[in-house]
Amino acid sequence: MKRIFWQLTFFCLAISGSWTVSARDKDDYARSREAMVASQIVDRGITDPDVLRAMRKVPRHLFVPENYRASAYADYPLPIGEGQTISQPYIVAFMTEVLRLKPGDRVLEIGTGSGYQAAILAEIVKDVYSIEIVEALAKRAERTLIDLGYPNIHIRIGDGYKGWPEKAPFDGVMATCAPEQIPETLVDQLREGGRMVIPVGREGAIQRLIVGIKRGGRLKTEEAMLVRFVPMVGDDR
Ligand code: SAH
Repeated sequence: MKRIFWQLTFFCLAISGSWTVSARDKDDYARSREAMVASQIVDRGITDPDVLRAMRKVPRHLFVPENYRASAYADYPLPIGEGQTISQPYIVAFMTEVLRLKPGDRVLEIGTGSGYQAAILAEIVKDVYSIEIVEALAKRAERTLIDLGYPNIHIRIGDGYKGWPEKAPFDGVMATCAPEQIPETLVDQLREGGRMVIPVGREGAIQRLIVGIKRGGRLKTEEAMLVRFVPMVGDDR
């Protein structure tokens, strides 16, 4: 039964893949995006209307390299160059939902990558501060986000372990790369009552996606699921 399911899944992916390549106009991408939200996001239990609205709106295909556009709305992560990846759509939606964001919030993201996650956040909150350590990725993301018109996303080239002290405290902190431990600096830069979502664990190993809320100056944490992210490189001291 399981085997038939996977065979069917791959068959459908193959079909939808070639179909998207041959008809690359906006409407086709919009339809793929709508289908992605229905089957990968809503069906798996994401309910926050702001998150669903953002996932329906942001053109994910414009954040992936051209040769991967046909798979932009598929149910898996994709390479974005420099050995990095854009997360699977469901993970993006899940990590956004658990931050319980409000329109006036200011969020810090570590790991800009393609800029897709930053765009999803920027559809919901007032300001997004996103740090990327690989200059080429930061510059490309900046270009994409300027072209799409996101003046409320601020990108810094630098080491996320340091956070963005001048703009702290943040209402939410999200890391899309995995440190071995939760960096204390990032907890310090979260406001009291604010939430953090961060994958934690060694490179190449299964990591834990941690969701935390800051209470009494400390992060109270829960483990949400097992995940695999690229490592948070840089200086963890
Ligand atoms: N959020 C991204 C996915 C990013 S993949 C998106 O939506 O596309 C993780 C990113 O974290 C990579 O681009 C990697 O270069 C970056 N990264 C790794 N270590 C970092 C660090 N110490 N500070 C900032 N960015 C880092």
